[in-house]
Parts: sequence; C-alpha cells; structure tokens
Amino acid sequence: MQLMRAFVLILSAAVSVLAQTTSNHPEQVRQIQNAPKVKAAFDYIDRYKQDILAEWIQITEVHAPSGHEQQRANYIEGLLRKYKLDSVRYDGVGNLIAVRKGTGGGPAVVFDAHLDTVFQPGLKIKATVRGGRVHAPGVGDDTRNIEALLATMRALDEANIQTKGDLIFVFTVEEETNFKGVKHFVQENKGKIDHYIALDGGYEGFTYAGIGINWYRHHFIGPGGHTRSRTPPYSASLPLARSISRIYELKVPTAPPSNLNIGMLGGSEVVNAKASDAWFTVDLRSTRNEIIASLEKQIAAILDEEAKRAGMRVKKELISTSPAAVIPGHRDSQLVKIAEAVHRALGFDPPITNTGSNNSSVALLAGISSISTGAGPCADAHALTENCEIEPLYRGIKKILLLEIALAGLE
Ligand SMILES: [Zn+2]
Repeated sequence: MQLMRAFVLILSAAVSVLAQTTSNHPEQVRQIQNAPKVKAAFDYIDRYKQDILAEWIQITEVHAPSGHEQQRANYIEGLLRKYKLDSVRYDGVGNLIAVRKGTGGGPAVVFDAHLDTVFQPGLKIKATVRGGRVHAPGVGDDTRNIEALLATMRALDEANIQTKGDLIFVFTVEEETNFKGVKHFVQENKGKIDHYIALDGGYEGFTYAGIGINWYRHHFIGPGGHTRSRTPPYSASLPLARSISRIYELKVPTAPPSNLNIGMLGGSEVVNAKASDAWFTVDLRSTRNEIIASLEKQIAAILDEEAKRAGMRVKKELISTSPAAVIPGHRDSQLVKIAEAVHRALGFDPPITNTGSNNSSVALLAGISSISTGAGPCADAHALTENCEIEPLYRGIKKILLLEIALAGLE
C-alpha cells in the first residue's frame, strides 16, 4: 500500500515536471498572436492612435497627487462605464476596480496601474507635444500605463475577444507614498489572484522580484555649545563626518544587486553653535535581505565606535523598511516564461531583472506570482520635465494586450 502510494506520487511528480518542460510558451504565444481576433485587436490600436494620444493627454491633465486621486478616478470610471465589463466599482480605500469575466477555467489575472503622481496639489498640468514626445508632469508615471489598460480594454471589446480567465483591472491609489492601495487590494483578494502584473515604468523588459529598501536617520547626540566653548567636546558633526567617510569604505556587493546612499544630513541651526544633534540618512537596498542586515550591523558598529571616540551617543530612527520581495524559483514560473515569450513575440530582447520597487513587491510579499513592466519609454520621472516618446507606446499597448490574452487564455 505504502509502496503503491509512493509510486503514484513519483509518477504524478514526473508527469508534472514533464508538463512543465514540454509546455512551449513561445509557440503558444505565437499561435495567440496569429489568431484572427488578436490581429483585429492589434489593428484597432493602429487605427485609433490619435484617439489614444488624445485620451492619454486628457487623463494626464487631470491632476492626481498621491492621496487625492478621486477626480482622476471618476474621469476613468466614466470611460469604463462604456466598455463591456462585468463590474466597475471602488473599494474601501478608493481603488477603482473593473472586472472583465472570462468564460471559465482560466487563471484570474490582475493588471494594475497607479492613479497617483508625486506632484503637489494645486499644480496646473498642461501637456505639450513636440519632437514626437508628450511633455507633462506625470505623463509617464503612471498615466502611460493607465492609458495602455484603457486602450487594451477597448481593443478586446472591438475584436470580440473572450478570455478563459478573468481579467481584473485595478487603478490603485497612493503607490508613490505608502502602497496603501495595493496593500488593501491584495489583503482583500489574496487567494483569488493567480497572476499580478503591475504596470509601472518599464518598456523593453520586466522585473520578477522586488529589491529590499530600508531608510534610516542616524543621529549623534552631544552637548553642543558656543563655537568658543571649551573643546573637546566638539560639534556632533565630527563623529558624523568620520562615520560617513567610513561607511562609504564598506564593501557593497554588486551581485546580488545592492546599493547604499547617504543623501541628507543636518546639524546645528546656526553657524556659531556646535551641533548637539547631527544627523544623516541612509538608503540601503538589496535583493537579499541578509545583505541589508549585514550592512546595517557594520554601520551600527561604526556609529558606536565614532560616538564613543567623541564622547557622544547615537540614536537610530527607522524611516521605512520594505524587505526584498522574492519567491524562490519565480524566474522559472509560468508568468515569467509567458511574459518573456510575449516580449520576444513583439520584437523586444527583454532585460529580466529582480530589482523592482512598486506595487508588484506587495503582491510578491503576499506570495502572489507577480511581475512589473510598462507600456512605453519615458524620461525624467518625478520631475516637472517628465516626458514620453509617443510612437513606441502603441507597440507597448500591443505587448500589454498580448500579455492579457496569453495569461488569461484565449477562448
Ligand atoms: Zn510609478
């Protein structure tokens, strides 16, 4: 009996390995790409380039600072109401969710783009087109991907495409600040999602894991005093300077990808006083949590030594932490294989990296298979000079469309 069971187990394991190794994703994707209905959907994108551009600009000009996305969400909701969707609704935190149900038997596939931008409330946004590019704050991050989702929904409708699995389109709030939107959505829908695709940045390639990011503010606390007060003790800026110099001597690995940056510092409020509180920030990143932990320990040792040497103490403030979002073996998952095949089918030679830092990380941390990619090449994200190339967006939209159909399955 035991032996029989063991045999069956081995057999079923062998069959599932076989199924994995024999599924030919490039061939499957090519077949879908060549299906007449999919060709019709691609033609729709080519025929409506001007309308897509006009709508992209309109949405860009509806300002949506992080935490104040409602006006833009309402605008998009008005468009969604005209499509063949099974439901359009808001959830408890203001994410706008549209469901296009499949015929059954396919995976549930989520595509998200975030509504919010990093720009201040009150900013008047006016897009300009010159030299084949659109210029406007937020035009790329993440409005290009909002427009890509809307264009693919219309193309699916026009070409009468039915998928097997459900397509769930989510326009999320507060990606740029605290991931409130995606956290809420994932928490509420965990267990019902098979694939999660965050559209944010990107064009040529995609990410399949998230980099860990820890932010700290370190303080040296000393007695302070007038410039002419007896020295030592010195200004707390002295152990700070010594520490920064030593921290930059630390070996930060390049493989796996890791980074260390000291970007902000401060001390006394006036020229003629010794700092009683001198501080600096550290931005520590790695795709391996062990590396972040090790660098954190080495930095703490340096700070303690330099504080002791100057007769002062240290205070550590954690600004934010988000661990590396990694699912073991995810590089070989169905989602990643299909995404790679889709990119190649549309002529991309995709860089496939594990250094994402967007909504995708939240899904991965919840154990959901997830990637992040985007629909077009842009420049100067998070700056007032932000701009995007126009023509490549249409190819990017076809990429997203093919990804939707290939993942959910063509009926
Ligand atoms: Zn973004």
